[in-house]
Amino acid sequence: MRTNTATRRRQETRGALVAARAIHASHRVHERLNSWQTVYNGSIRLAVGPIILNNVANRKEQRGSPANLALPADPLQPRLAAMLGCGAGDCSAVRRLILLASILAFPVLSAATLSAADKATQAIGPDQLLLRDYRPRSIFHVPATRVERARFPAIDVHSHAYAKTEAEVDRWVATMDAVGIAKSVIMTGAAGKKFDDLLRLYRRHPERFEVWCGLDYTGFDQPGFGPNAIGELERCVRAGAVGVGELSDKGGGLCGNAGGMHLDDARMDPLLEKCADLGLAVNIHAGEDRWMYEPMDATNDGLMNASKWRIRQAPGILSHDEVIATLDRAVAKHPRTTFIACHFANCCFDLARLGRMLDAHPNFYTDIGARFGETAPIPRAMAKFYRAYQDRLLYGTDMGMDAEMYRTTFRILETEDEHFYAMDLFNYHWPLHGFGLPDAVLKKVYADNARRMLHPARRTAP
Ligand SMILES: [Zn+2]
Repeated sequence: MRTNTATRRRQETRGALVAARAIHASHRVHERLNSWQTVYNGSIRLAVGPIILNNVANRKEQRGSPANLALPADPLQPRLAAMLGCGAGDCSAVRRLILLASILAFPVLSAATLSAADKATQAIGPDQLLLRDYRPRSIFHVPATRVERARFPAIDVHSHAYAKTEAEVDRWVATMDAVGIAKSVIMTGAAGKKFDDLLRLYRRHPERFEVWCGLDYTGFDQPGFGPNAIGELERCVRAGAVGVGELSDKGGGLCGNAGGMHLDDARMDPLLEKCADLGLAVNIHAGEDRWMYEPMDATNDGLMNASKWRIRQAPGILSHDEVIATLDRAVAKHPRTTFIACHFANCCFDLARLGRMLDAHPNFYTDIGARFGETAPIPRAMAKFYRAYQDRLLYGTDMGMDAEMYRTTFRILETEDEHFYAMDLFNYHWPLHGFGLPDAVLKKVYADNARRMLHPARRTAP
């Protein structure tokens, strides 16, 4: 319900904003009325129109801020004045009379302008509507299933330290109870004190959270890098780390995207081997999904997110194919190490590519986190893929800790619902469809696979 409430609240805020602006605008109109003719010929509506359009276009920048309801200086004031043929402070006695009359008429007029304003968000012509303002609603009378809880207790292998305080951690556990998440893997990506602090926080519920560490890349270009990084990794494991992640290489390298050291780099070899020794699975984010590499133009299928997550091609930044190839080579080079490529290895656009990697490497898994919006447009291909690789896919979210977020993921996996939208969650403008996965597949993806492979036996003590 929280998302629905949030959506409603946002709509109300949006409505209030538009309404407030309409009142503001009509006040200005009243201040500047030149003649009744202006009212009769409908100039008020004409004048208010552009303001609303303009404000809707600016809404994105203002959204989520308390300033939403404040009325900034109106940049269109001079335009309005010009349209109404009256400059500021030049009201004659006749005009004052007209003003008085217009004030008396204000409730009627404001009602007219308000209702026009209320409709404004829907009333924008298709030739003026911006893609970012597109909010379609399904009109189909087809089954819409609400899934309160995961069909089987689930392990979320892709989560992060969203809860920052003990109270927030406790609330998160209550949400997990409500929706059927047995355990969440908190990938801190951190070493040192930051890791220790997060470990302490999430230790409140050791049965419900496991905490993974990152790798310490300090001095990755210096000779002592390997031993130092291994020393810190062993320390994290002694403290309580049970996995490594989320490592990330969006093409520029593992070190904050600047180092140029990729997963298959020889400098990573001792670290990845040590992960095998210590029984630590490694979660790695390689590249981004393909939309983010495509031209940012009218042909880009996923433009709404692609424009924000885009990978700029620049010297030293690997292409999608190249960065996936580093992953492929690293997994082949370290067969004792368990790898989880998160987000379907960012290969949603070409599941056959991912399938080939899964076929080639038994030590290779993938999590489905944060790729529900990207995969729900192709439900039949996805259902086939889930069936084919049911032993290698791991449930994950990577999208916060809201109950409705979890429920939307369950709806996509479990139901055969068609043509529904979850734009607040995924920000894609396309409709979603459920995969209708069978129980046997769901059970594995939700938890059995994770339980089986997350903690391979340790070969050495940390
Ligand atoms: Zn993540």
